[in-house]
Amino acid sequence: MALHEVDLDRDEAYDDVYSTHVSAAGLPKYRVPHLPSPPEAVYALVHDELALDGNSAQNLATFCTTWAEPQVHRLMDECLSKNMVDKDEYPQTAEIEARCVHMIADLWHSPAGRNAVGCSTTGSSEAAMLGGLALKFRWRRRRQAEGKPADRPNLVCGPVQVCWEKFARYFDVELRQVPLEPDATGLRPHQLREYVDENTIGVVGILGVTFTCDYEPIEALAAELDAIQHDTGLDIPLHVDAASGGFVAPFLQPELVWDFRVERVVSINASGHKYGMAPLGVGWAIWRTPDCLPEELVFKVDYLGGEMPTFALNFSRPGGEIVAQYYTLLRLGREGYRRVLQTCADTARALAREVERMGPFTLLYDGGTALPAVSWTLTDPDRAGFTLYQLTDELRMRGWQVPAYPLPTHRQDTVIQRVLVRHGISRDKIMLLADDLRTAVSRLTSDAPREQPAFHH
Ligand SMILES: *Cc1c(COP(=O)(O)O)cnc(C)c1O
Repeated sequence: MALHEVDLDRDEAYDDVYSTHVSAAGLPKYRVPHLPSPPEAVYALVHDELALDGNSAQNLATFCTTWAEPQVHRLMDECLSKNMVDKDEYPQTAEIEARCVHMIADLWHSPAGRNAVGCSTTGSSEAAMLGGLALKFRWRRRRQAEGKPADRPNLVCGPVQVCWEKFARYFDVELRQVPLEPDATGLRPHQLREYVDENTIGVVGILGVTFTCDYEPIEALAAELDAIQHDTGLDIPLHVDAASGGFVAPFLQPELVWDFRVERVVSINASGHKYGMAPLGVGWAIWRTPDCLPEELVFKVDYLGGEMPTFALNFSRPGGEIVAQYYTLLRLGREGYRRVLQTCADTARALAREVERMGPFTLLYDGGTALPAVSWTLTDPDRAGFTLYQLTDELRMRGWQVPAYPLPTHRQDTVIQRVLVRHGISRDKIMLLADDLRTAVSRLTSDAPREQPAFHH
């Protein structure tokens, strides 16, 4: 039925949702409708449409939170109206943000104590931009003080997430991405020397490489930069992109030295909405000491009443995710995070064992030492009889979202598959996935057409 055929004068107060005009005529897609519609009907129709999205509980591709306790839902609802930029109107939300900054700085062994400097962001991407900008401003100030040109900054990194490519392009910095060595899953220290020079604003080390889930060796990267400084005089700061590992390593690998315990680390970013277990929309950027954050980058905003320092790309932003992050830190505590993550890591390792036993796969990362995740590749892609892309499609028919993609530069011929085990993904669910993987492999490697499984052999 088209809209002009619908009797718009009818009182719809008692209509069934599916006989209202908005349901009968189809939802407007290009123009804002002229008339209002009953809220129950609009809700039902939008809700129905969203049901066609992938099932987030079966999304094993994302690092992001897909499950939260009912208390988190309640707090998010209660914070709907709170604009976290209005620190004067919502001082307790601002106070809660400051508490999170202190707790996270302390978790990462910040030497600044009560003077910890940092802020919440919309995620690691914004936090990375802020970290990168601070590196760029500090480098430029030093170059200018030395009377040297400061017009060709570069940033050195391994296989980074796209946010660093964005940073480089948006803020006019040359990105020197070091290619992967044949068997490496990330940047290796001995590669650095060839890429850094006097225009290097910093090196980015990744705690939890997006592609392989392995950690880059932050302490060894710093040691190599120490050696480079000793030999050449270049003093190059290190930023750690701990988007996922920042909320894993402190709990699962407390002995691993990757954070502010490493002198050369000047700033760290992490996503609260990944293993921080907060709902989508929050990240954190923390600087080693106040002098690591150039004051030109901090704006004093006073027209909302009171003078407040802000360092952010956004202005208005919801406060709920920050409050939910605080709730989660209090609710779980260090031991709670450890238990949830240890369970995830054990589940990842169990999946790794299953995958290894299936035959055609070689594990690239077995979930044992870094993130609770598994990645694998085909041992012999030419003889396997199927591709990982086909396997992704097969799994998708059961609702699983397990991505297949090529590795970054110099290893792009290697296609891999990756599963992330996070909060809300149980051992049982992962074993059901393993069953479906086995079934999919046997279907793909048998010659019978899939429409007639009963006639096979
Ligand atoms: C996810 C991720 C990002 C981007 O984080 P968002 O919170 O999604 O903006 C950056 N770096 C790494 C290593 C990541 O895993």
